[in-house]
Amino acid sequence: MIELKQVSKWYGHTQVLDDCSTQVAKGEVVVVCGPSGSGKSTLIKTVNGLEPFQKGEIIVDGVSVGASSTNLPKLRARIGMVFQSFELFPHLTVTQNLKLAQIKVLGRSDQESGARAKTLLERVGLQAHQEKYPGQLSGGQQQRVAIARALAMDPIAMLFDEPTSALDPEMVNEVLDVMVDLAREGMTMMVVTHEMGFARKVADRVVFMDAGKIVEDCTNDDFFGQL
Ligand code: ADP
Ligand code: ADP
Repeated sequence: MIELKQVSKWYGHTQVLDDCSTQVAKGEVVVVCGPSGSGKSTLIKTVNGLEPFQKGEIIVDGVSVGASSTNLPKLRARIGMVFQSFELFPHLTVTQNLKLAQIKVLGRSDQESGARAKTLLERVGLQAHQEKYPGQLSGGQQQRVAIARALAMDPIAMLFDEPTSALDPEMVNEVLDVMVDLAREGMTMMVVTHEMGFARKVADRVVFMDAGKIVEDCTNDDFFGQL
C-alpha cells in the first residue's frame, strides 16, 4: 500500500532524511518512534506529499508521490492525516468541519455528507457535540473530531503525527482508544507516537529513527521482546 524506497531529504545543507526505506502493507499498523528531531514527522509527511524530498521514491497505492504528473490533492484526499494540533476550522461547527471536504473535494451532497458525519461522530462518541464549535470542546474531543473528519473521506490509509502529544494526560486514552479500534478494523496506519503502550498493543511493525535514518524496522515481537 505504502512503499518508501531510499528516500533522502535536505533542508539546505542539513540532511533530515537519510536513505529511508520501509513499507506498510494493506491493513498494517506501523509505529514510527525515535528521539525528537530524528525526522519522524518529516518522514510521514513525505507520504502524502506535504514534505517534498530530493532522492528516492514513494509509491502509495500504485501512485508515485514525487512524480511531477501526480495529482497531489487527489492523493491527499485518499490519505487521512491527523496532526498534533487538531487543525479544525474554528468558525465551523463540528458537523460543518466533517462535511466541508466531503462536499468540496468528493462532491457529495449536503444530505450524504451530513449522514456520513453523523455516523462517524457517533462512532467517536461525539454525537452530542455536533452543533458545537471546536473551541467549545476539550483537546481530546477536538482530536476525535479531527480523526472523524479524516475518516469521512473514506481514506485508504491514515497517517498520525504525534496525535496525543498536545493533550492533557487524562485525554490521551480517549484518542488512543479510537485509534486502537481503527487498527483492529484493519485500517492501514502509519503513526508517529511516543506512546509505547499503544505501540505494543497495536503495531504490527515498529520503525525506529535516529538522525534521519531508519535504524530499526522490525516486528512488534522483535522490538518489544528486546526491551
Ligand atoms: P521529529 O518528528 O522526529 O521530531 P522532524 O521531522 O520534525 O523530527 O524534524 C527533523 C529535523 O528536520 C529536525 O532537525 C528539524 O529541526 C529539521 N526541520 C524540520 N523542518 C524544518 C524546516 N522547515 N527547515 C529546516 N529544518 C527543518
Ligand atoms: P512537527 O514535529 O509537528 O513538524 P516541529 O515543532 O518540529 O513540529 O516544527 C514546526 C514547524 O517548524 C514545521 O513547519 C517545521 O517544518 C518547522 N521547523 C522545524 N524545525 C525547523 C528548523 N530547524 N528550521 C526551520 N523550520 C523548522
